[in-house]
Amino acid sequence: MTARKFDDAVEATARTPFGRLLEEELNALQAAGLYRTRACLDGKQGARVAVGGRELVSFASNDYLGLAADARIIAAARAGAERYGVGAGASHLLYGHGRAHEELEAALARFTGYPRALCFSTGYLANIGVISALCTREDAVFADKLNHASLNDAMLLSRARFHRYPHLDLDRLEHFLRASRARRKLIVTDAVFSMDGDLAPVPDLVRLCSRYDAFLLLDDAHGFGVLGAHGAGTLSHFAVASERIVYMGTLGKAAGVYGAFVAADAALVDLLVNRARTYIYTTATPPLLAVALLESLEIVRSEDWRREHLARLSAMLVAARPTLPGSLLLSCTAIQPLVLGSAHAATRAMGVLAEYGLVVPAVRPPTVPRGSARLRISLSAAHSVAEVERLLAALRQLPR
Ligand SMILES: *Cc1c(COP(=O)(O)O)cnc(C)c1O
Repeated sequence: MTARKFDDAVEATARTPFGRLLEEELNALQAAGLYRTRACLDGKQGARVAVGGRELVSFASNDYLGLAADARIIAAARAGAERYGVGAGASHLLYGHGRAHEELEAALARFTGYPRALCFSTGYLANIGVISALCTREDAVFADKLNHASLNDAMLLSRARFHRYPHLDLDRLEHFLRASRARRKLIVTDAVFSMDGDLAPVPDLVRLCSRYDAFLLLDDAHGFGVLGAHGAGTLSHFAVASERIVYMGTLGKAAGVYGAFVAADAALVDLLVNRARTYIYTTATPPLLAVALLESLEIVRSEDWRREHLARLSAMLVAARPTLPGSLLLSCTAIQPLVLGSAHAATRAMGVLAEYGLVVPAVRPPTVPRGSARLRISLSAAHSVAEVERLLAALRQLPR
């Protein structure tokens, strides 16, 4: 495979010795089909997006409820900017924390049924903050091998001993827990796996926590807003509650805005305020986003029709499974992965779908294990039945 030419700016740097080293690395990525570029959206995020002058139907966003460009949330953001300005101007502990942040935390605690909630700038930062605040060298983290990259990075940064168990393999997990002599044991898992769309067996994990005196950090980035009563998330879906669970939800996916939160008991939240470095050493998020999120939470909670429609669309994909090439992983969520195998096959398929006016991202290693590159089809309440039929027809045209 010959290396493709990079853009002019990259070509120019490649003339320096350091640039040549970087270029070799980029060439290797390209040869392996792993080179990444960004598409540029010209307007709003949503089920339909404008790219390079074309209107495309997008199955790429995590805006599962179709709220990223909701007029009511935009109006709330505008009102928030008028009232609080645009920048928080300081970190939470040094006078950057405001009324809007307080109100959002209270609303999130009520929604998830926890005594307290604490907002972080992003889910990535929340995971790093929680794991490093709870675990140090004397502690141990137990992690599913398909966890999100942010949980893996968080685990490494904490310097805790860590044990990764094969995806959903609770026997291996139990084996690790039984053998561990760590001071504090923390199981960490995606609640809905971001690239597979399947669910962690939360009730079984909670039982293991009780048996081995462990805690569970549940990353519900893809369940919050989508699963459970009125979108309260994966814990509501399984009807489990436990003081051993630290719940993390993100606000840039189904909630359509930006940010993340941790819900837990008061002592844990207080410990995070004092110890979570990614909470302490960063500027507070703009309060206007908290105002937008208060509006978004109202919509997430009250508009059950969005989740009902999404469930109908997911059922369409599941029903079409035998007619599709590759292997559609079984998922009851908005994430419907079609595994095609090689990175090249996935990128080629993405190209074919683009010709049909459809955006479906190819996800390749290292985001997913080698040999399991896939199209990550992401459904939204803003898609119509006709659009999903169009997607299915195009998928059937892919080479088998
Ligand atoms: C998206 C995602 C995150 C990161 O959340 P951001 O708010 O986008 O930083 C964390 N965990 C999982 C499972 C995710 O899918």
